[in-house]
Amino acid sequence: MLAINTTETVHEGSIFGQITTMDHEQLVICQDEATGLKALIGIHNTVLGPALGGTRMWPYGTEEEAIKDVLRLSRGMTFKNSLAGLNFGGGKAVILGDPSLKSEAFLRRFGRFIESLGGRYVTAGDVNMKTPDMEYIALETRHVAGLPKSKGGAGDPSPVTAYGVYMGMKAAAKKAFGSDSLQGKRIGVQGVGKVGKYLINYLVKEGADILITDIFEDKLKEVAAATGATVVDSKVLYDLPMDIYAPCALGATINDQTITRLTCKVIAGGANNQLEDEAKHGKLLMEKGIVYAPDFLINAGGVINVGAEYYGEYQEEAVFTQTEKIYDTCLSILTNSEQQNIPAQQAAIEAAKARIEAIGRIKLPF
Ligand code: NAD
Repeated sequence: MLAINTTETVHEGSIFGQITTMDHEQLVICQDEATGLKALIGIHNTVLGPALGGTRMWPYGTEEEAIKDVLRLSRGMTFKNSLAGLNFGGGKAVILGDPSLKSEAFLRRFGRFIESLGGRYVTAGDVNMKTPDMEYIALETRHVAGLPKSKGGAGDPSPVTAYGVYMGMKAAAKKAFGSDSLQGKRIGVQGVGKVGKYLINYLVKEGADILITDIFEDKLKEVAAATGATVVDSKVLYDLPMDIYAPCALGATINDQTITRLTCKVIAGGANNQLEDEAKHGKLLMEKGIVYAPDFLINAGGVINVGAEYYGEYQEEAVFTQTEKIYDTCLSILTNSEQQNIPAQQAAIEAAKARIEAIGRIKLPF
């Protein structure tokens, strides 16, 4: 029998090394030569239930980048689902390649890989995966949510995500300014896509002074005309005086370069993985006195929406009510962070892990 030398196989940069360090249960590698499909499914933790998290398609420069992304994103989903009080674990899938590769066969092949996991992983949409793509996936697996209303789904989850971000932003404002009113607050919204646009609608109603950036001029013009927001150059956004920075585009925008430039008192936005280095940048924000509303805590509205759809119990009002609880959860986590003098990110992760441990224990008698 061949013996595996674990000390040689499991080193920091190896796949086993990475999934061990990040505490994953499983990493599934999928390939299909005929359609050109190459995908990774990260299943981080299934103590609370099936691993739920969307599929992202991206032209990654290297395999390593894709592995890192799927591992980070699926871990984030574990914490997000736990803090949102859902009976779902954390998972995520990434498809490697240019979105133009997508075809019916390509997507259905991917759907069959998901089906082969027997419900351990439930997918939904994410970057570069649109509703018609999810419909093709759904032809091959039941373990998919985020379908259009016309197909019995709950439709686009972005309005609910934006509502949760708004709730989290108000809770963070209460901590930072003593009041959760956003009236007159200058708020820089980076990215006026699906989440950004809906978020701005809430901010406008409160009388906030809104700055917007995007890489698409037409989107900026449309949002500025509809809301009165001021368009600013995306390169200078971090340098502008503002009360709140709301990242609603990409991850990792809170990093060594931007933290020194930001003068805001609150960061609260919809983008995933905002901190480039979770431990280092979480701590730097705390030292700078910036109240940070952790992304996976406040952008959970979307997953609350798709989770209800998956269990066949979707009611819009109930989903918004559950999402509203993000306000209380965020306030409580920011208070813990303050009292224990630990970064908000760490306080949020500890709260998420505590629920998983507690629920894991009650399952033991089975
Ligand atoms: P989207 O693609 O609709 O919007 C993103 C916007 O950001 C686009 O308008 C894009 O042009 C813009 N953008 C890209 N690069 C930029 C840059 N460098 N500077 C300024 N703008 C830039 O995506 P979305 O659904 O609104 O999601 C936004 C973020 O929120 C993503 O990180 C996503 O993972 C996260 N998120 C979304 C949901 C959801 O329900 N849609 C749920 C949870 C998390």
